[in-house]
Amino acid sequence: MDVDSHAEELASDLGVDKQEVRDDLENLLEYSVPIDEAKQSVRRKHGGGGGGDASPSALDVADVAPDAGNVTVTGRVLSVGTRTIRYDGEESTIREGELADDTGKISYTAWQDFGFEPGDTVSVGNAGVREWEGEPELNLGESTTVALESDPVEVPYPVGGDRDLIELEPGDRGRNVEATVLELEERTIDGRDGETEILSGVLADETARLPFTDWQPRPEVAEGAQLRLEDVYVREFRGVPSVNLTEFTTVAPADVTVSDEAPRLSVREAVDTGGMYDVTVVGNVLEVRDGSGLIQRCPECGRLVQNDQCRSHGQVDPEDDLRVKAIVDDGTDTVTAILGTELTKEIYGGTLADALDAARDAMDREVVADEIAADLEGREFSLRWRQSTRTHSAGGWSTRRVRSSPTPASTSPTRWRFSTGRRRRRLSP
Ligand SMILES: [Zn+2]
Repeated sequence: MDVDSHAEELASDLGVDKQEVRDDLENLLEYSVPIDEAKQSVRRKHGGGGGGDASPSALDVADVAPDAGNVTVTGRVLSVGTRTIRYDGEESTIREGELADDTGKISYTAWQDFGFEPGDTVSVGNAGVREWEGEPELNLGESTTVALESDPVEVPYPVGGDRDLIELEPGDRGRNVEATVLELEERTIDGRDGETEILSGVLADETARLPFTDWQPRPEVAEGAQLRLEDVYVREFRGVPSVNLTEFTTVAPADVTVSDEAPRLSVREAVDTGGMYDVTVVGNVLEVRDGSGLIQRCPECGRLVQNDQCRSHGQVDPEDDLRVKAIVDDGTDTVTAILGTELTKEIYGGTLADALDAARDAMDREVVADEIAADLEGREFSLRWRQSTRTHSAGGWSTRRVRSSPTPASTSPTRWRFSTGRRRRRLSP
């Protein structure tokens, strides 16, 4: 059928002027809208609904697959985030977020401002679908149509961007948080436009503490300030979600009181967050693993070596060190805590030289790990992990034995092993 026949059919169905319908259709076809979607759009405009001529590519959100081609989806806008990115050498302002129906939710990227807001119900016509990190994502471009619907689609998801810090995940767009600025430092970085001043630090609410970066430093963001931040996005920074403020983020005073203590979570909760910045867990040390006590590291890369063989550097002259790799269980889940040199010395009750002496006397290096295991295994500890925002330190644990005299809190470079499969990488400013 040619456009004229389609227009004739539509005009008779809808009882409107054929020329008007034809103009509408041609207008849509010029923007590469497929004929079925164009007809559907014209029907909607004239109050005819989808009827029996619904486009075969109109899908439920749950059915949108990366190979779906171009699709039409009707859903509720959950969030809208605004960001400037450089694409093909040009700066574009894009909108990103999620939309949902009662079958599921999906991320979108809009390359122009279609004017919709969180809470709007929209029919998105002729949207592209691309795959991002294994998930389908809607791509709203020049040939995409967005029509505001008057009947709201009910969805089983929060509508709008308001979240507690603990709910934030890398990849989130258009989020609003209320938090206190706990720490702040000014930094100069080599940005895409040369040297740029940015602010970085730590945000806190009652649920979590997270690092943040303000790419557009503003005076309201000051140490101790209690703020409502609207339209922030989240990306991963050394395994934890990091809050990013852009030129589009609005900052207003808020009332947010936080305690001095790092929020305490169950191990399960902490694992579910996909990585925590500053958190306390309390659990039993199930096991002190191999690779604890008196260990040897490659002088080049710091990796543990056995028989003087580094995986990257081959035969090396290793350096002695102390560490603990412990499995901690609180009944909800387990976490591997890797304690650095300083904390291991405290637990062992001696220096590296003491440990080497003990190993020499016993003619067995394992005596150090055995002694540490005897102190730790089966006992309950409070462990606080705090990641550093500084460039040259990975952060550290401090431990406190529960139900016995607490050891002095201290920190040392170490690692937090909450593994997660939810990493997402996106375009960043
Ligand atoms: Zn090495």
